[in-house]
Amino acid sequence: MVAINEPAICFDSVSKWFRRKGQITHALADVSLDIAPGEFVSLIGPSGCGKSTMLRLVGGLIPVDRGEVRINGESAGEARRRKHYSFVPQHPALLPWRTVKENVALLGQLNKRAGAAGIAADAQLALLHDIGLGPFVDSFPSELSGGMQQRVSIARAFALGAPVMLLDEPFSALDEITRADMKYLLLDLWSRTGSTAVFVTHSIPEAVALSDRVVVLGNRPGHIRTIVDVDLERPRQEDIEDSEQFHALVSDVRSALKAGFDSV
Ligand code: ADP
Ligand code: MG
Repeated sequence: MVAINEPAICFDSVSKWFRRKGQITHALADVSLDIAPGEFVSLIGPSGCGKSTMLRLVGGLIPVDRGEVRINGESAGEARRRKHYSFVPQHPALLPWRTVKENVALLGQLNKRAGAAGIAADAQLALLHDIGLGPFVDSFPSELSGGMQQRVSIARAFALGAPVMLLDEPFSALDEITRADMKYLLLDLWSRTGSTAVFVTHSIPEAVALSDRVVVLGNRPGHIRTIVDVDLERPRQEDIEDSEQFHALVSDVRSALKAGFDSV
């Protein structure tokens, strides 16, 4: 039973250590963060500050060492079994021998078998058409550019209807123009599906343009330095990046990040 006001994602005093070859890395120290249903939150911070670790903890891919992570009131492991999240990695993981349409449908079938609600095949197709992938649904991944493949990978993740989207630097391998384009595609998909998004990026303007809140992390061990509320109105289009308010927010995030570097 999900309580009213239950956050979609809850980090409750989470600590994580990795042990490898006799060496212990304290990856996260006492991280507490509540993410509301339907919220878009970005994680930003220096390399190695635990951003990917946070996503992997939410995804139930690794266990916490101290504290708790809950997804809609369930343990991360349970949420994983019930396919409550979709993961978008840095590089598109499409099956090369299946068309775009089949790539989307196949994952949908697998998830349904695992008991996830998902959305119907015709609704998946409609979504692909709505975001301009209609002409490519019968193409094979090798016939598409890298940017287009990542577009499909992101669309597929949303088309599966998972309530929580985990995106780990999904735009970092793309060129600037494609990247700018992709940002607003992502916002479009997010607003159409109402999912909760946790997005890792190294780009401050990207984090501000997309998010309701930007979580700035510090290093050694990874911890939350500060959280910047982004109260830019929605829906957002590219011209929002010309506003003074946008620049002020970018500068707030930059200062928070710099303060972190100065103290290392
Ligand atoms: P980020 O994504 O912010 O760059 P990560 O979450 O990948 O950082 O890593 C946080 C810290 O934990 C780093 O110091 C990294 O080297 C370490 N780490 C991550 N995964 C492992 C692992 N499987 N084994 C050992 N150390 C790890
Ligand atoms: Mg990472």
